[in-house]
Formats: sequence, C-alpha cells, structure tokens
Amino acid sequence: MTLRVLNTLSGEREPFEPADPDDVLLYYCGLTVSDAAHLGHARTWTHVDVIHRWLEHLGYGVRHVENITDVNEKIVARIGEDDLGDSEGAVAERFVDQLLSDMRALNLKRAEVYPRVSEHVPDIIDLIETLVGRGYAYESNGSVYFDVTEFPDYGKLSNQRLEDVEAQGVEEERSEKRHPADFALWKADGVSESAVAEHRHDDRTYAVDSPAGETWESPWGEGRPGWHIECSAMSMTHLDSSIDIHMGGRDLVFPHHENEIAQSEAATGEQFAKYWLHADLFQMGDEKMSSSLGNFIPVSEAVDRFGTNALRMFFVSASYNSTQTYSDDAIEEAIERWERLENAYRRVVDAVDSPDAHTKVESELRGAVEATREDFTEAMNDDFNTREALAALFDLASAANAHLDERDDYDYRALRRTVETFEELGGDVFGFDFTGDGDGEATLAGELVELVLDVRAAEREAGNYERADELRDGLEALGVEVQDTDDGPTYRL
Ligand SMILES: [Zn+2]
Repeated sequence: MTLRVLNTLSGEREPFEPADPDDVLLYYCGLTVSDAAHLGHARTWTHVDVIHRWLEHLGYGVRHVENITDVNEKIVARIGEDDLGDSEGAVAERFVDQLLSDMRALNLKRAEVYPRVSEHVPDIIDLIETLVGRGYAYESNGSVYFDVTEFPDYGKLSNQRLEDVEAQGVEEERSEKRHPADFALWKADGVSESAVAEHRHDDRTYAVDSPAGETWESPWGEGRPGWHIECSAMSMTHLDSSIDIHMGGRDLVFPHHENEIAQSEAATGEQFAKYWLHADLFQMGDEKMSSSLGNFIPVSEAVDRFGTNALRMFFVSASYNSTQTYSDDAIEEAIERWERLENAYRRVVDAVDSPDAHTKVESELRGAVEATREDFTEAMNDDFNTREALAALFDLASAANAHLDERDDYDYRALRRTVETFEELGGDVFGFDFTGDGDGEATLAGELVELVLDVRAAEREAGNYERADELRDGLEALGVEVQDTDDGPTYRL
C-alpha cells in the first residue's frame, strides 16, 4: 500500500516518491504576521502537522520548513494602531510571539526552522540578481520585475495560458512593467500608500497617517523585497533548489505559487517542487474566514473555549482538500466526538489493567483492531483522507465498547493492542492528547473570563452600564480584549 497524493501540478493522484526517503523536504507557506492567527490558519496547520506525522509514521524522515512573513504591507498598515508598536518590526514581533504560542497550544510538531523574511534579504537579493543575469527579470525605475513572457511554462500550476493571466500588482506599478502579468521581485524605496490604505481596517485608530516600512540597500537602490520571492529564497536556503512537497492554502495557487515556480525554475533550471498540495478553504457561513473580512475566531480564543483535542477532532473530520465550514453545531459535534473517543480509550485502559482481562481469552476485538489499522492506513495513504481514517478509529471505539459491554472476561491481548492503536493512530498521527491535558474548557483563565463576562451581561441587563464597562475595562487591563458581537461577547487573551 503506497501513499498517493493529489498533485495540483498534474491534477492527478500520484504515487509519492521523494528523492530521498530519509530526508523528505517539505515547505509550507506560512503566515503574514499582521494579525493573530485564526481558525482558518489552525485548520491548515493541523493538516500540515498530520501530513508530517503520517510521513514519519510511514518511516520517512521529514525536514519541514515554514516561513514567517514579517516584511509586508499588511504589517506596515498596522503601525501605530492601538498599542501594536511604532515600527514594522515591532508589530511583526508582537504577532510572531502570538503565533508561536498558538502553535504550541494546537500541539503542532515543530518545523525544522521558521525562517523570517527580515533575516533573508541578502538571499533574496542574490536570487533576484541571478534572475536579472539570466534575462528573466528587469529593472525599472528602481524596482525589479519578473518577465513572465520569458518563462514558457508560466501558468502551468494554475492551468492558465499567458494571454488569460490577469494583471498583477498595484495600479501605480503598471507603467513600469513590460507585461501586465509581470510581478515585482524588488520594490523601490517606500511602501505603496494605496496598498497600505487597502489593508487598513477602517474602524481602528492610528497614531500615524503614513507609516514607513523597513528598507534595505540593494544593487537597484534602497527598497523592499516583493512578496513571492521570499518563499523561493527561503526554500532554497533551508531545503534545496528542488524539494519534494510544497504546501499552502488553495488561494495561493495563483499568483503566489505560480510565481514561485517561475522565479525558482528560471533561476535554477530545476523543478522547484515535485508535489504541490493545497488545503481548501475554511469558511464562516458563505464567506472565507479571513483577517481582512474580520469574520474570524482567533486560535487562542478557540483553544480556550473548545480545547485542543476538540479542535483537532473538528479539523481532521474533513480532509485537507475539501472545504470546511465553521458552525457552532459542527464544533459541538467535534467536542462530543472527542469525548466519545476519550471515554472509549479510558474504558479500555481501565479494563486492560483489571483482573477481568485474561491472556487466554480470545475475541472478535482482535479482528476489529487489525481492521481499523488497515482501514486507517488505506485512508491516509489515499491522499491523507483524515475523514475516513477518523471513521476507522471510531469503528474501533465501538468494537471496544461492545466487547466491554457484552462480556465479563476481557481479551487482554486485544485490549492491549487497542490501547496501542489509539495512542499510535489517534495520538501520534492525529495529535490527540489522551492524558487529559488538552481540554480547553478546563483552563482556569478561560473559565474566569467567562464568569466575569456573565456578571457583566447581568449588570447590563439590570441597567448598570457603568459597572458593566468597569468590568470590561478591568479585563482589558489584564490583557483580555473583549469584543461585543451580535452573538454575544467574544474575547482574546
Ligand atoms: Zn509562499
């Protein structure tokens, strides 16, 4: 049974054949640190994590790199907002800290390295110089653009012909470019004001009107790297010129990944990544959950409210390449399913260590454990079908419960194998924590905040608005940001 993966490049399920099975090179396009990570990010993170874990389960060695975009107009747009900081670096640092703590809270395996753009500008400049030298890029007015007409394969990932590709970049670049689809590798001098304006959230207050981002010295003058080039430079720096898996959200196929392929393959003459895996959208109602739409639930709040295990249960219940929609009912169901799985696990652990478990007893549970292991493996090898794999784990939970309900002499060997299987497939692969620590509703801080919010709601109802505001201010003084929505108050720590 070999692993097959759906490769966006070919549109087909292909057998997974890495260049070196002991060193599978995986790059994931990480976050721009202009806001707190939300459930949409958590969903993709969890799937990348499960893919990483499954590859290791199959015996592969995995080198996993995830970049952090800490140089970006979206970050510049937030300079001076509230207490976020007065420079691009300060704003970024604040969200990097948050991001790392979110990752820990979600029980993600650590990547090999989390390279940051701000630390790789020399690598980026080197790569751009190579592209200019080879005739794939040109300087114009202090900026450097990739010339899409020079790269015959342009459009191969997103399945477009060059004449159909839409114009790229902001309006004010148009006159500097030879072809509307050319994209910026290096941007002269400052940050585009219109781009900043586009990213500014209207309902917030700013201490400065025209914030400035960092700039660096380059052969073309003072400027900043374009967005796409960073992933090529960091993938080549920390992995290799040619890697096995490149992952990201479906919305990155065009232009981001298309541009990554063009600039990387033009520079090296080698295939940039063999398998392109894309996670599908995460929706809130009919819309994509996104920072710019403001319709998101921050990871930290979700972990506090639902717990890590229930969140991971929710995410793996839909496969990475299908669209998943958030709803209160769906989360409730995930919480309930996690409890069911955990209860089955605890029951089996109690039974296997009880005097009722005998090595001489043989039962149908043995067949059920092996069937689960086979079904789980088959599902995961079918392009990481976590939904089906999870169903196999629940089959085992049902079979184990039935065994314990129906008999009073238990099959020791089958129960022991059941415990191992839960821990191996549920624990090691899906990242569930059966030790009881990952239940968010149990965190004291979260419960206390909920309690204060309940008191505040009661004060409001009684017309004591002043007292209610004091409670909110008190929470904010402790670092708890409260926001009132149509569905009641939400908060983040
Ligand atoms: Zn990227």
